[in-house]
Amino acid sequence: MSSASQLSTRRVDDIRLRALRFFNADPDEFDLVFVANATAAIKLVAEVLRDSAPHGFWYAYHSDAHTSLVGVRELADRGSRCFGTDGEVDAWISELEVQDNVAVRDMPQLFAYPAQSNMNGRRLPRWCEDIRRASRSGGNDHVFTLLDAASLVATSPLHLGNASTAPDFTALSFYKVFGFPDLGALIVRKDAGHVFAQRRYFGGGTVDLVSTREIQWHAKKASFIHELLEDGTLPFHSIIALRSAFDTHERLYGSMDNISSHTRFLARRLYDQLSSLTHPNGTRVCQLYSHYDDPRTQGPIVAFNLRSSDGAWIGKTEVEKLASVKEIQIRSGSLCNPGGTASSLGWTGTDLRRLHASGLRCDDDHDILDDRPTGMLRVSLGAMTSVKDIDTFLGFVDEFYVEKSVDFTALPPSLPLPRLQPGFSIESISVYPIKSCGAFKVPDGQRWKVRREGLAWDREWCLVHQGTGAALNQKRYPRMALIQPFIDLDHQVLRISCPSSQKSLEISLVHEDTNPVPALCQTAMVCGNRVALQAYSSSKVSTFFSDFLGVPCTLARLSLQPSTSARVSSPSLDTMPGSFPQLLPTPAPTPARLSNESPILLISRSSVNRLNDTIKANSTGTKKAIAADVFRSNIVVVENTATNPRASVEQPYIEDTWTELSIGPSQLHFDVLGSCQRCQMVCIDQVTGVRGDEPLSTLAKTRRFAGKTYFGVHVGLADGPADGSGVMVGDIVLTGV
Ligand SMILES: *Cc1c(COP(=O)(O)O)cnc(C)c1O
Repeated sequence: MSSASQLSTRRVDDIRLRALRFFNADPDEFDLVFVANATAAIKLVAEVLRDSAPHGFWYAYHSDAHTSLVGVRELADRGSRCFGTDGEVDAWISELEVQDNVAVRDMPQLFAYPAQSNMNGRRLPRWCEDIRRASRSGGNDHVFTLLDAASLVATSPLHLGNASTAPDFTALSFYKVFGFPDLGALIVRKDAGHVFAQRRYFGGGTVDLVSTREIQWHAKKASFIHELLEDGTLPFHSIIALRSAFDTHERLYGSMDNISSHTRFLARRLYDQLSSLTHPNGTRVCQLYSHYDDPRTQGPIVAFNLRSSDGAWIGKTEVEKLASVKEIQIRSGSLCNPGGTASSLGWTGTDLRRLHASGLRCDDDHDILDDRPTGMLRVSLGAMTSVKDIDTFLGFVDEFYVEKSVDFTALPPSLPLPRLQPGFSIESISVYPIKSCGAFKVPDGQRWKVRREGLAWDREWCLVHQGTGAALNQKRYPRMALIQPFIDLDHQVLRISCPSSQKSLEISLVHEDTNPVPALCQTAMVCGNRVALQAYSSSKVSTFFSDFLGVPCTLARLSLQPSTSARVSSPSLDTMPGSFPQLLPTPAPTPARLSNESPILLISRSSVNRLNDTIKANSTGTKKAIAADVFRSNIVVVENTATNPRASVEQPYIEDTWTELSIGPSQLHFDVLGSCQRCQMVCIDQVTGVRGDEPLSTLAKTRRFAGKTYFGVHVGLADGPADGSGVMVGDIVLTGV
């Protein structure tokens, strides 16, 4: 009875009414239940139907359904069915009319489908009235319809209108219409509201009276459907905020009809242009999965994949990465629409189980398997989308994915040369003791030890999130680039400094008890591999990093546990104590390191120069040269025109052709393991930690092979006795193709 409570109740009731009107639902015929989101609305209906009859319900859904609708099948104790086409739905409706099997006729049935596919924007037919009429005339009044309007309402008015043609239940999320607040609704046709009386659970707010001791009894509230379903305290601040959302939206846009025609116009422009893009040889650039035959059956969502002129698919992850550095937000993958994507891409259930067993997951970057895309790209338009946004996106596709009839820097053909050629020497050597943090440059004159797993102390440590235990990376936390490590061999410490802090942190290089002892043992996922780590428990260590990055984290070191962190042991003398700890002999097929893919990453100065020339040539002087250190290589080699008179001009990208290297006076022999695939991390300036769009933009245009972008090569020490020697700045590099 408090006035505060009265006021909030009154406000909530007013806004409930306003929300019903927004969807053109007459409050005499419909009620609106506030829930967290569309998924919660769907789940509420499913749970009620499960409770409503002794043997549960039967469920049917359309294959264009969102994952949240598909999941209802797990609660349908009488079985479920997925309709692959609209025709199958029509056939089922005809069956309802002439159902003479009494058992089927009497069981509760629920049919659910999306008003608009969240995958490709297709708007589905309005089936609810037909279903109601057919089931009634077949003698079954337990057939219910659930419309998932979450995608539709974002850009289109919803006319629930006449209750006899409306769905029994309509699920939606307000944040998709307004952006804020995070709230959803279930709109219930009052005539179907009786099923909710069967709901088993009750909570505060949904009962009139409860007894708990001698008799387990309760009386449910009965005046309104929403009273039966809104358990506990409503998110009343969010509901009150919804009123501001209605007001603001109306002030900005006038009506949903305006938004609908605005987005229809933009989608048409986007669709027409994407579908007309061709490569110079005439092949189409876009495979579209949305169709614009009739604007009434198509919402402003365009789903597609890109292909190169030889017909090869371009990986969705590659496009998404580049779009993200260009500040274009698109979505990729199976888009939470498993049925729609599988049928558009031609994957069967058997295929998907096989791919899952071999490691495919919804959000990974296995873009192309069996020569087919595993997912797609999706552009969704909204009230705020402008013509400029559409043109920016079209310009992006044209710039990066429509091939021009100019020469690409292709992998040069291999020339018949003697086995090992001089011509290069080491310009610099970098070690990254802490994964994703700054580089330690090996001083001139210092020979640095190298083993099969890489350079001494390279990626020996990493930073782990204190909540999840996951290793942090620069892609998420660009400021990690500013954390500066220094390996002090004289004092046997790793000294770490950050720009903002006066004090530096010292960590012993030696794996010993004298360490600020790693107490907590754990494993972490690093680049898809599980590795054993020991995190430093000292709060001095964790505070040092957490304060700088603004995320609760601490330092961790590769564990010495031989069973988990298998390292290749070598019988040679350790000239750098602490590096490459000697383990029990555990032969490891692939030594566990924190480095992403390879023991050592090598780039060539000539290639960096060529790349910078290309960036400058294409940018009318507005772009700065990028520094070689964005590639985070271990070794930069430079062409030695003095020792190789044949190389009078630089040979950029020649490293792509190398298969082996021999470095330094003791002729350490390395295998070239392959070219290095690049992602948006190369766009982080390693001095400022600021992200731009180069060099990925230019690399994507000039260095893309089979849909992936490459720069630099992975190398590893070849088999054979390791003599404990190493590499030094100035060493001659012999290269073999
Ligand atoms: C977004 C969406 C959902 C899920 O909405 P949530 O707010 O995440 O619960 C369900 N169906 C469709 C068609 C959607 O677009």
